[in-house]
Amino acid sequence: MERNLTTEAIVLTNKRWGDLHRLVTMLSPSLGIFDAVAYGARKGKLAGGIDPFVIGTFYVYHNQARKVRSITDIEVTFQGEGIREDLARLYVAHAMAEMAMRMHGGDHEQLYGILSRHLVLLAQREVEPRRLFMQFALRFIAIMGLESDLSSCPVCAHPYETQEILYYHTGLHAPCCRSCADIDTETFEMALGPGGRKYLELTRNMEEVSAVSVDLTEATTERLFRYMVRQVNDILGSALRSLTGGVLTEALQ
Ligand SMILES: [Zn+2]
Repeated sequence: MERNLTTEAIVLTNKRWGDLHRLVTMLSPSLGIFDAVAYGARKGKLAGGIDPFVIGTFYVYHNQARKVRSITDIEVTFQGEGIREDLARLYVAHAMAEMAMRMHGGDHEQLYGILSRHLVLLAQREVEPRRLFMQFALRFIAIMGLESDLSSCPVCAHPYETQEILYYHTGLHAPCCRSCADIDTETFEMALGPGGRKYLELTRNMEEVSAVSVDLTEATTERLFRYMVRQVNDILGSALRSLTGGVLTEALQ
């Protein structure tokens, strides 16, 4: 491996590294998820370039003897201000970053594409953060090869009626008909109504910028947002840490 490398990357998170430094976790289209130390990050030229959701070109030095990568310079192309000014947007951004870090079996170049485009959209005031999360989740699930069949049941192949409510199969991580569901259908937590299904079918193959501007009632937005969060939790095997807790639920309503 080369000692110096240059890559596009999105900062997903960073944490303290000694007294003065930060360890930065990033997503790169070519390297996937990787860590690099930002030495002296509190001051100096790297400050501001290693905050979560920054997108840019990162210059990285690989010390092979010490097995440490460090960031030597950053050209920021997206600073993410619009995200940090708003609590609901901030939570959604953290959730998307957490999903990126926990993805298994998908393609990192595709993940980089959807995450960078959704972060840029999320910074725009007119974009509704819950609808943006749903669009990201739909594409994230597709990258993992688990895109839901919204026209017929994946278990019994029964074609859905227009007004049919879909239930859920945890083994397949996908919606199914009522009689094939493998979890309790009484609570309706994993029920997908006809309005929500139509919206998902209509928007999932659109360009993101068009998809996030498709209107949806507040009631359907709230129901579908919770549904998509539960589906992501089911796929990842445990709840998204960035979306648990009461603060968030209030911020996102
Ligand atoms: Zn079925």
